[in-house]
Amino acid sequence: MDDVIKEMEKYAEEKGIPIMQKRGMNFLCKFIEKNNIKSILEIGTAIGYSAINMALVNDDITVVSIERDQDRYIEAIKNIKKCKLEKRITLVLGDALNIDLTGKYDMLFIDAAKAQYIKFFEKYKYFLNKGGVIITDNINFHGYVGKSDTIESKNLRQLVGKIENYIEFLKSNTEFDTKFYDIGDGLSVSTWKHE
Ligand code: SAM
Repeated sequence: MDDVIKEMEKYAEEKGIPIMQKRGMNFLCKFIEKNNIKSILEIGTAIGYSAINMALVNDDITVVSIERDQDRYIEAIKNIKKCKLEKRITLVLGDALNIDLTGKYDMLFIDAAKAQYIKFFEKYKYFLNKGGVIITDNINFHGYVGKSDTIESKNLRQLVGKIENYIEFLKSNTEFDTKFYDIGDGLSVSTWKHE
């Protein structure tokens, strides 16, 4: 299994496919273990790296993961087969904002288009089990977050601005209690304050 994970890291680096940084991945896996998370919905599969790592935390974990890029989806299917995890990881090909899903999950992991974070959060919060959590990656976005005013490139400035808006949205959200972690590329953990 370690060989497949190493191969995926190499493949992602060679092809320029963004996958979770190791420290962020370790944090996520420990969080899943410590909080006894059993069902996970991921937005942004890429080649299946984080889905596989999360499923490997425990034999009774299931993951549903959504990816809109067909080539990455096909690559993820191959990797999941190599790890013999087809029964526990279900991939969905499509745009997470357009597809209809069913089911309830202990955890939602958002790791897709950064400009759409609020939309993903608002659509998929209804898929959480009581007390569930929403974890979001790239909250620091390579150290740019908090400095959008100083960025010269308009596109980058707008993208970073969207992540800053998302952070404000999380901080002022009364349904969820959010903690921010300066680990990997920055992660937020939002726990549903269900009564
Ligand atoms: N979670 C993966 C990992 O760590 O192994 C990395 C995911 S990568 C950062 C983001 C992925 O989200 C890309 O492959 C991209 O095609 C996909 N994506 C972006 N917006 C999406 C959307 N609206 N619906 C589904 N997938 C999306």
